[in-house]
Amino acid sequence: MTIRGILFDVDDTLVDYSGSARVGILKHLAAEGALDRFESADAAVALWRAIEEEEYPRFLSGELTFKGQQLVRTQRFLSHLGLAADDPAAWFARYAALRDTAWSAFPEVASVLRGLEGQVALGVVSNASLPYQTGKLRAVQLLHHFGDAILCSDEFGAAKPQAAIFHAGCELLGLPPEQVAYVGDRYDVDALGAREAGLRAYWLDRGGLGMHAGERIAAVGGGITVIRSLTELDSP
Ligand SMILES: [Mg+2]
Repeated sequence: MTIRGILFDVDDTLVDYSGSARVGILKHLAAEGALDRFESADAAVALWRAIEEEEYPRFLSGELTFKGQQLVRTQRFLSHLGLAADDPAAWFARYAALRDTAWSAFPEVASVLRGLEGQVALGVVSNASLPYQTGKLRAVQLLHHFGDAILCSDEFGAAKPQAAIFHAGCELLGLPPEQVAYVGDRYDVDALGAREAGLRAYWLDRGGLGMHAGERIAAVGGGITVIRSLTELDSP
């Protein structure tokens, strides 16, 4: 079956979210005079990201709002440091401002998208809020590739790996799921979710850093294409 459309995840697929979050939290902690509370920069980043990994799913499940998960992450992080959270919203906003100045796309993304444009329909399905993701894609000069085909879980009301959001993304492209590829960096949420929804699943495992041998074997055996770079999408 010919692939006529490609839907992309955003964070750590098109945009180096992890890199920007690292820059943002380290600059923020330095500015707040709190960086020396950690053994190392890596330890500070690890704590910040570990809390995010625990709290962000509560937003995706509908338990917390998008803003709510930001406040909970901030409160947990500050309490871990033994600091009072007088105004967690303002603390997070100062972090986000520094993070947002560091947005960058992975090096190959712009040229790959230019090459795909006109060949296949392009879109985005992301577990986040629409203003946040459109702002991010605009900042890295990728927004124009996707037109109106940008679907975010906050507005849609369901998150990956639920099939409904993948199917709604396909509808935005005007294509049936079997003619659409999905590309994302998370094995469970992106690759397994897309495959279960009937799309052609591409698991982006940049540099093999997040790769577990068992997942790779399961992916390959389960009809998921494992790629290391978006350049491998030249002829999906
Ligand atoms: Mg991602």
